[in-house]
Amino acid sequence: MNLIDGKKISLEIQEEIAKEVKDLLSKGHKKPHLAAVLVGNDGGSETYVASKIKACEKVGFKSTLIRHPEYVTEEKLLQTVRQLNEDKDVDGFIVQLPLPRHINEQKVLESILPSKDVDGFHPINVGRMVLNLPCYVSATPYGIVQLLGKYKIETSGKRCVVIGRSHIVGSPMSILLAKNTALGNATVTLCHSKTEDLKSHTTQADIIICALGSPEFLKADMVKEGAVVIDVGTTRVASTETKSGFKLKGDVKFDEVAPKCSYITPVPGGVGPMTIASLLKNTLLAAKKEIYP
Ligand code: NAP
Repeated sequence: MNLIDGKKISLEIQEEIAKEVKDLLSKGHKKPHLAAVLVGNDGGSETYVASKIKACEKVGFKSTLIRHPEYVTEEKLLQTVRQLNEDKDVDGFIVQLPLPRHINEQKVLESILPSKDVDGFHPINVGRMVLNLPCYVSATPYGIVQLLGKYKIETSGKRCVVIGRSHIVGSPMSILLAKNTALGNATVTLCHSKTEDLKSHTTQADIIICALGSPEFLKADMVKEGAVVIDVGTTRVASTETKSGFKLKGDVKFDEVAPKCSYITPVPGGVGPMTIASLLKNTLLAAKKEIYP
């Protein structure tokens, strides 16, 4: 069994980005600038945004955090998005999800200029991704593809099962893996909560991407010998072992699944750090105006 070290690969990518930033600055370019909009005080969202801001500082980006209280109106949030769209100094920005229930998430995401949508959630970027056109690819699936590439895990011709069909992880993941590209060409089955006899699919899979948000869902008897297992799940569960009072649990019952795998990602330290590296990559692309000149 080989452990896929997402933390290490993410740091390597961040070092490459930092070098490129230095190069840009030496050519008189301004610092790439990522802004993040955070609504409310959800512990998970706070942690994710803080890691993104910290990573920006490390690679030499400028970062801005805009906070709104939980009760912010949809109009006020849309106004913030419009301001960021117009701000020439901001290269890209994200609105941290989930948003409170009284706000129409889709409306907010669609109000972001596609050229600044470094999370890759805007329909224009999703559509361009499907059509194989230059775009910002959603950070988590993009990070997973990069991990597979770095570990030289063959996807071409392989049977791949993606569990979970969300717009931000499962669906784009299934599209990327099925594409006629170097890190695609897999035969993909996209499973979800209505899938019957999930195990009959997963036990056939060479590669399983678990993105459902159900702690330790994937058990050893659902995995064939030698499979590659990528665990996207990050559910906060109460814990007396940590100072914070919780720990992150993946969607894979790691201890029993890992011995059967050729490669597996841990939680934490697998997919999570790659999501951040991908967001930084997208922001650098935005700063260089490579996708939308
Ligand atoms: P989501 O929007 O809640 O979607 C979950 C998906 O899983 C849905 O498509 C759902 O099916 C499916 N599902 C739920 N229970 C199932 C079951 N028993 N069998 C088969 N499919 C089932 O979640 P998400 O936003 O994609 O996130 C998934 C997990 O990844 C969460 O733990 C999240 O925290 C984590 N995540 C991690 C990162 C990272 O950077 N590491 C980034 C994003 C998300 P239906 O469509 O039929 O409801």
